[in-house]
Amino acid sequence: MLNPTGSQAVAQAQTLDDARRTAEQTSTPSWIEALQALLPAECIRSDFQSRAEHSRDRLPFGRFRHRSKKLAGDLPCAVVEPKTSDDMQRVVRFANQHDIQIIPYGSGSGVLGGVVPFQNDMIISARHLDQIIEIDETNRVARVEAGLNGMAFETALRDRGFTCGHYPQSLSMSTVGGWAACRGSGQASSRYGNIENLIVGMKVVLPDGELLEVRPVPRRSVGPSILEMFIGSEGLLGIIVELTLRIWRLPEHEIDTVISFPDLDHGLAAVRDIMQAELRPALARLYDEAESIKWGLEAPPGGAIPVICMLSFSGLEGVAKAEAAAAMEICARHGGTVSDQEPMRHWKSKRFESHSDAFVDAGGFYDTIEIAAPWSTVGEMYRQMTTSVRDHQPVVQLSAHWSHAYTDGACMYLTCKIPAMSDDEALPIHADVWERVMRLCLDMGGTISHHHGIGCFRNRWIAEELNHGHRMLEGLKQVLDPRMLFNAGKLGIKAD
Ligand SMILES: Cc1cc2nc3c(=O)[nH]c(=O)nc-3n(C[C@H](O)[C@H](O)[C@H](O)COP(=O)(O)OP(=O)(O)OC[C@H]3O[C@@H](n4cnc5c(N)ncnc54)[C@H](O)[C@@H]3O)c2cc1C
Repeated sequence: MLNPTGSQAVAQAQTLDDARRTAEQTSTPSWIEALQALLPAECIRSDFQSRAEHSRDRLPFGRFRHRSKKLAGDLPCAVVEPKTSDDMQRVVRFANQHDIQIIPYGSGSGVLGGVVPFQNDMIISARHLDQIIEIDETNRVARVEAGLNGMAFETALRDRGFTCGHYPQSLSMSTVGGWAACRGSGQASSRYGNIENLIVGMKVVLPDGELLEVRPVPRRSVGPSILEMFIGSEGLLGIIVELTLRIWRLPEHEIDTVISFPDLDHGLAAVRDIMQAELRPALARLYDEAESIKWGLEAPPGGAIPVICMLSFSGLEGVAKAEAAAAMEICARHGGTVSDQEPMRHWKSKRFESHSDAFVDAGGFYDTIEIAAPWSTVGEMYRQMTTSVRDHQPVVQLSAHWSHAYTDGACMYLTCKIPAMSDDEALPIHADVWERVMRLCLDMGGTISHHHGIGCFRNRWIAEELNHGHRMLEGLKQVLDPRMLFNAGKLGIKAD
């Protein structure tokens, strides 16, 4: 099973059958009856099926364990789904009185084990807090409940001629509260910004049951940002119940194009120059050779396989056209030529689907690792990372694309595939790939996560990444949640 240090004691994993037997032999916690007096009966579930379904998220390690009929961590003791923010407060106060550990839960689409219980915790799901409270066209903001599904939010906005501008690939699988809690990024981040640029207000049920309100304003200079303390808090500092986010007019015009470059270095230089020319592509996705091949590109005689880059510009027609023209000039200077548009059409049709399911269902091991680094190192970092796993080849396939770009650097999104084999063989290799990638990332000045967060799976590296900042995070946790009731064992903060 996983443990809060993030290391994987594979052999100790509890089987689902054992967990079921133990659950059947263990009596329902005595406090359930008292909680039933506070909430409607349908909001509390303690049956084995509900508990097992909420025992993990989309953490690949957890999926591999589940495939082998094992638990990733522990079973939660119950799944509680309050219908209102007041009820959330009641449940949190109740948990305090009865000393019950809590894990806030959005949709379980996280990929780092952020909701995996280690100590029989109670899952508090935001599922029923799913309303759009207000779309304020004057101030261009929307006020929503935190359990709102991302796709439902975007669809409602589009019906009114707006967009939220935040399009994670998991749009239909995730909640707006989960976006904030994991400090996520959408596919159009270089145009609209990341989630921290979009959220302007928030309500949070704190670990003592009090409701914190950060009023929505365009910006404030009132000490360190309280709002930002909760963006990326991963369920450790309270339950986010409401958010106010900037929204945007749907673009008047969109220009999509696919460019092929002779090699990766030319592609990276072009994307860097596009960002440093202060253009704002709605999409800038550059693929390495291994990922470009899947789009059907062939090497010219005697040459290397070209790498492809998908670019999109949007907004007012004149602005989008001018930005696209400027970007084309930059690409041409780096040897880029307009390529077949099919990869863009294909990508757009699948942009909100999971790409790992077929591979995992066929017994393979599929994981992704997203990091970010300055332009000066990102190319070399890629080379060293792919070289560092060579002794695992041909078993391990490590490929990458760059899908969030900035003036100073980019996010590198690595995909690791290991073919079908036993867990005993594959999981140590999987762990070793993570170790080598994280080590190189830290040694070369990158950050260990660009948008998936830490959960428990990255616990091993967070203290090194944050240095004294981790001590500060522990202090914040101690002040807000001295009894360590909220999602202990995540963000590298020990459960005891
Ligand atoms: C196929 C796939 C593609 C993905 N693509 C992207 C992507 O493009 N960009 C991206 O950023 N992420 C992506 N993710 C990761 C994941 O979808 C995001 O991290 C998402 O924001 C998690 O939202 P959720 O509602 O499912 O949260 P959950 O998985 O339920 O929870 C994640 C963490 O947030 C905490 N949490 C959840 N809700 C609350 C709340 N209301 N209050 C306090 N804490 C809370 C939980 O305790 C946990 O620690 C992808 C995942 C998958 C499976």
